[in-house]
Formats: sequence, C-alpha cells, structure tokens
Amino acid sequence: MHKWKFMDEKVQKLKDDGVYRELPVNHGPCDHVIELDGRRVINLSSNNYLGFATHPRVMRAAKEAVDEYGAGAGAVRTIVGNQDLIEKLEDLLAEFKQEEAVVAFQSGLNCNIGVIQAIVEKGDLIISDELNHASIIDGVRLSKADKAVYKHSDTDDLERILKERRDDYRNVLIITDGVFSMDGDLAPLEKIVELAKQYDALTYVDDAHGSGVLGRSGRGTVDHLGLHGEVDFIVGTLSKAIGVVGGYVATKKRVKEWLLHRARPLLFSTALPPAATAATIESVKMLMESEEYTDKLWENAKYFKKNLEKLGFDTGISETPITPVMIGEEAKTLEFSKALLEAGVFVSGIVYPTVPKGKGRCRVMISASHTREDLDEAISAFEKAGRSLGVI
Ligand SMILES: *Cc1c(COP(=O)(O)O)cnc(C)c1O
Repeated sequence: MHKWKFMDEKVQKLKDDGVYRELPVNHGPCDHVIELDGRRVINLSSNNYLGFATHPRVMRAAKEAVDEYGAGAGAVRTIVGNQDLIEKLEDLLAEFKQEEAVVAFQSGLNCNIGVIQAIVEKGDLIISDELNHASIIDGVRLSKADKAVYKHSDTDDLERILKERRDDYRNVLIITDGVFSMDGDLAPLEKIVELAKQYDALTYVDDAHGSGVLGRSGRGTVDHLGLHGEVDFIVGTLSKAIGVVGGYVATKKRVKEWLLHRARPLLFSTALPPAATAATIESVKMLMESEEYTDKLWENAKYFKKNLEKLGFDTGISETPITPVMIGEEAKTLEFSKALLEAGVFVSGIVYPTVPKGKGRCRVMISASHTREDLDEAISAFEKAGRSLGVI
C-alpha cells in the first residue's frame, strides 16, 4: 500500500464534500482595493480595520528598523532576542491600555497558547465561552487545568457552572472573546466581571477584534465598557487593526515576571522581527495621537450598514464594524459571494461548520481605508446580487 494513501483519502474527502478550495492570491499590499488572482477587486474581507498595514508612517518605521536592527531578532527573547524595540513596544502598550504591564508575543495565537497554559494548572478550572476563538481553544487544550464550556454569552449558564464547581478548585479562570468575530457581538463583560468577583474567579478577555476598534482611540472593549482594573488578563493582537503582526497580554507586573519565565512562545520561538516591532510601535503612537482613524472606521461602518439595511438585508446582531450579511443556506451563501466577486467585490462567504447550519453569511469587514466610492460600489454590487438571488 502506498504510504500517502491516508492523505490522499483525506483530500479526496474534502473534494467529495465540496469544501476543497485553492487559496486566493493577492498580488500586492492588503489595501482597500487589491489585485486578487490578477483582478482588481474591492477588499471587504481584511482585518486591517484602520488601513495601517499600508500607512506610510508605519511602512517607514518598518524600513528604518531594518536598517538599524536588521531583518531578524536572531534568538528567542530569553536568550538574546529581546531587542530594546520589544521593551519599548511593551511599555507603550501598557500606557495605551492603562494596565501595569504588557508582554508581547509573535502573534495573538501565540499569546493565547502561551499565556493560558502558563497561568492555570492541575487543580484549577477554566470556564470558556462556546464561541471562543480557536487559539483560546488550543490554549485551553494545552493547559492541565480542568475545562468547562458555557453557552455563548449566557451568564446564567456561566453562573450555574461557578455555583456547581467553584469550591472544587483552587483558581478558576473565565475566558471570553471581547468581540466575537463571526457576529460582531460583544461579550457581556460587566456581568462576567461581577460574577468573577462574587465567585472569586480570574477574568481573561481576548480583545483581538476590539483593540483598535472600540473604546477611546481603540483602547478596546474594556475601555469601551469602563471596566479598567476589572479584567485580569486582556489579550490584544497587533495583526488586525494595528496592521502588522504580533499579540500581547496586558496584565499585572507580577504576571509579567512569571510569563517571562514560563510562557513557552517566549522561551522556544524566535522573537518578533524588528520591522514588525517598530511598525507596531508607530501604529500605536498614531492611535494615541488622534481619534481620526477610529472615527473614520466607525463612520464607514455606519454608512455601509445603514445602506444595506435600507436595501432590506439582514446585517445580524453586530455592534462593531464587522458586518455579517445573513444569507442562510450554505450553497446560496457561496453563490452570493461568487456573484459579488464577479461584480468586483471580494467578501468571503462563511458557512457551516464555521457558523451554525443555515446561518451562512457574507461577512463584510469595513476599514477606515475604504473610500466613499468603494462603499457605494460595494453597496450596488450587494443590491444587484441580492435581487438576482432573491435575498432582498
Ligand atoms: C485573530 C484572532 C486571534 C489571532 O491573532 P493573530 O495575531 O492573527 O494570531 C486571536 N484571538 C482572536 C479572538 C482573534 O480574532
């Protein structure tokens, strides 16, 4: 028997199930308009919320850092990879987030898989929202703590678990996304914080889609809800609104001391490259200097949503610039996305198993970099596709 038969069978199964796909190729920067597979299309699918991925100031900072610091950090942080740029980024982020300390990681995913397993252990319990991001799920799996899952944003279910199980454990860690990426809804953080106090639990919020988007100058969901000092671990990404790559946790100094000894991505994976670190520093500075970028993002998001709703589309329950345009059936969702692409607008169709069956949607990610013309062109493409497919 051929030794790769098992792999060929897996790939064949993807094809049989109709879920096999080629990756689209973007022949240039991730801008408001991109050249995807050789065609100019309006990009409504990036996480580059503020347009910082191509901002001249951010790009210049990256180039200058290469000249001064080289292309790579050369080692893990605990050996000689801890360039002063990384320390500078952490101090700046701590100031921005108004927290005691920040630890930076190579990505948001790395941060979750490194932090969760470092802070809870056997004898502890993790309680996690059922719709938490895959990197949280992986972080939880890597931990030796016991695990429990509560229904999405259902604080009664969370309290039930706390009531039944709190006394059996030393530490309990409640983990939630700040903003859920598929629907754009916010976690019920006020209530979670209240329950955590009542049941003596720690709180962990992954705010990847909230940082740079919600709160004053994009300080995040915790700032937006006025909960400074109430959340024990606030994770953010530098890969989405900040426009580059990286992740971080904002927390207490004592936690930072521990993580610098035990967070495995810091010990066993090379540190952020200087270009990325310097570019993120510049992005965060830009946010701290002005609300112009976040204001533009929200203005664009409101304009787009208002016009789609006027046309009769269902834009779901989003409270953020994430705009899921609900289509329903899986095949129709993919057909809708294809019709948009033919009209020069790229919006990925998201279907089961990423979202529940029958809840297929074309998820629009609005950015401050979109011009009014981009949005108008996209709105008319939605109208055309919506009418021809009987969605509106
Ligand atoms: C995108 C995302 C991440 C991963 O961030 P990267 O920096 O891209 O690795 C982690 N958590 C949540 C909730 C996310 O949405």
